[in-house]
Amino acid sequence: MLEENTIVEIQCPYCGLADCSHLLAMIDVSFNDWWEAGYAGEDERYYEFHRVIEDAFRQLLRKGVRECPMTHPKLAELWKYALLDYSPGPKVPLKGEDEEISLYPSLLNTLIIELFENAGAAAQDGIDDHGAPGFSSAMTILHAENPQAVFDAALLQLRQLLTLVPT
Ligand SMILES: [Zn+2]
Repeated sequence: MLEENTIVEIQCPYCGLADCSHLLAMIDVSFNDWWEAGYAGEDERYYEFHRVIEDAFRQLLRKGVRECPMTHPKLAELWKYALLDYSPGPKVPLKGEDEEISLYPSLLNTLIIELFENAGAAAQDGIDDHGAPGFSSAMTILHAENPQAVFDAALLQLRQLLTLVPT
């Protein structure tokens, strides 16, 4: 998916290079698409954020929870949209292990960017304007001194916000 002629010219704040191992993630915030680049793009690790939230929401919805138990504003918004889209009401129970939970994409991505920054990542804004005319999009490019440590810390923080693990 990542093609050389569409790479945004962004320099790493840690080593000054345009292409290095400090790249954590590239998120197209116009189209809410993740690039298969950087640490988070390896083996599509970024889906772990989606899965953690989906699993937590699914468990709560199955228990009949409708009032948002999470205090983080973006998680509360995500909960609201998930409830609207896939849970018509307490009388319509979720069924099946793979019941899909709808996560509002732009909210999810701004939440993940916030978690990455809280965990120590440096975010830069870029434009991918090498595509077809009229299709340029805004990118958020995240670097970290230790991408794996920042990724894991962000994921842990998310699990704490979802109260899956004690704080
Ligand atoms: Zn670097």
